[in-house]
Amino acid sequence: MYALSEWRPLPEIRVRNTLGGRLEVFRPVSPGVVRMYVCGPTVYDYTHLGHARTYVAFDAIKRYLALRGYNVFHVQNITDIDDKIINRAREEGRDWREVVETYTKDYMEALEKLKIRVDLHPRVTQHIGEIIEFIEGLIEKGHAYVAPSGSVYFDVTTYPHYGELSGVKDPQQWRQEEEFLKEKRHPFDFVLWRAWKPGEPYWESPWGRGRPGWHIECSVMSTRYLGRQFDIHGGGQDLIFPHHENERAQSEALLGRPWVRYWLHTGYLTVRGEKMSKSLGNIVPLKDAFRRWRPEVIRLWLLSAHYRTQLDFNEDALEQAERNLERLRQVAQDLKRLVETAQPTYRLDERRLRLLREVEELRYGFHEAMSNDFNTAGALAAVLKLAKLVNAEIIPLEDYTLALRAYKLLLEFNSVFAVLDDVIAARPATEAEKLVSELVDLIVRIRRRHREERRYDIADWIRSELARLGIRLLDYPDGRTVWRLERK
Ligand code: AMP
Ligand code: ZN
Repeated sequence: MYALSEWRPLPEIRVRNTLGGRLEVFRPVSPGVVRMYVCGPTVYDYTHLGHARTYVAFDAIKRYLALRGYNVFHVQNITDIDDKIINRAREEGRDWREVVETYTKDYMEALEKLKIRVDLHPRVTQHIGEIIEFIEGLIEKGHAYVAPSGSVYFDVTTYPHYGELSGVKDPQQWRQEEEFLKEKRHPFDFVLWRAWKPGEPYWESPWGRGRPGWHIECSVMSTRYLGRQFDIHGGGQDLIFPHHENERAQSEALLGRPWVRYWLHTGYLTVRGEKMSKSLGNIVPLKDAFRRWRPEVIRLWLLSAHYRTQLDFNEDALEQAERNLERLRQVAQDLKRLVETAQPTYRLDERRLRLLREVEELRYGFHEAMSNDFNTAGALAAVLKLAKLVNAEIIPLEDYTLALRAYKLLLEFNSVFAVLDDVIAARPATEAEKLVSELVDLIVRIRRRHREERRYDIADWIRSELARLGIRLLDYPDGRTVWRLERK
């Protein structure tokens, strides 16, 4: 006998922390709340599939944590002042603020299409006062120094944990920002405040005109909104060194340790093995990708690999995702219809009990994968197995309890993957649609009578006439026939 008492509680969530490289049980700083900061774009060009890889990955992480009951606050910054923006404005003969507005709009549109809802999008230029205060604090504590030019640098030798995050232990490899070598105390110090050069935008500061360096913004904005300690800090793996190493150094130097609990980094989206990036000239802008594939297809494809692995862009993989999406949509539609129309189940026989157990095992498999460092690839595999089971055994049975449990699993899946929203939100059928549905059921029954009386020519003719109207009949071995509307 199958007993519900066999159902297992959901597994604990574990995450692979880049700091230390181990799989750790996820325990946020405040129970029930997750504070997450993801490094967003520098808005000097169109958002591309490589960005989407990282943003969709953290969106799925956030959505899974929410499914497990956490109240997640997600901050993703916008770098709206940077050399790249200034250079782009020069090349195009435009004001740098126009460049920023153009590409911020493109980024926001991409997020919306990809169904990524970020709670807060802090912009650097709106936090200059806080950045200056943060740097003043570092100077006061002896972690930063002002150079004759008016630039301010972080003194890496004052922070003994430098190199731990990236695992780069050899100071020779900490060399960075060679353009400032002349005035830095050590080749691996990095700039917090850049002295003004004519023709560049500037803000007034205690050290004269200038603008922030790159790394300081994320320390300042994350701390301002998430507190002196928060749970998840993420980005692509290109950010581990020097960006996150530097963020960690300056934050822990000022605020104390530890600053961030879990550092999570996504693997690259590649094209023929090379990172998709502007500088390699191999980017696929999202605005172009959306013309070719629905955002849901792109999401499903991006989530078909674990976030930490490398994922290569190719059309076959996207076509595969398109087929998987079609299957899942179909199953969701069929289950939804069954849940809305099937008669209640009054007794579960042995076969139904077995199927119920299988559905629950697949649900456990889905959560097991997601709890194991957010393995969306494993979670998707469990749901594709569910689709198979539903088509082969649950739809033909037209059993309410099984359909409901399978549909609930699809809802959980969708709350993380967000690829079936329109199917799930579809309004209930109108009276006219219900009548059509009943008429098709009637035609199917008429065809069955013909088959029972061996008038196969008429039965086949009915099948092909229905097919002409986009109604496909599926005959199951147990004698049942199910119909599907396949026209768009
Ligand atoms: P950027 O605008 O280059 O600073 O990138 C914004 C975010 O997207 C960062 O978290 C990057 O790590 C991430 N990112 C950029 N390119 C890729 C890529 N090809 N694959 C994965 N993540 C990327
Ligand atoms: Zn950052």
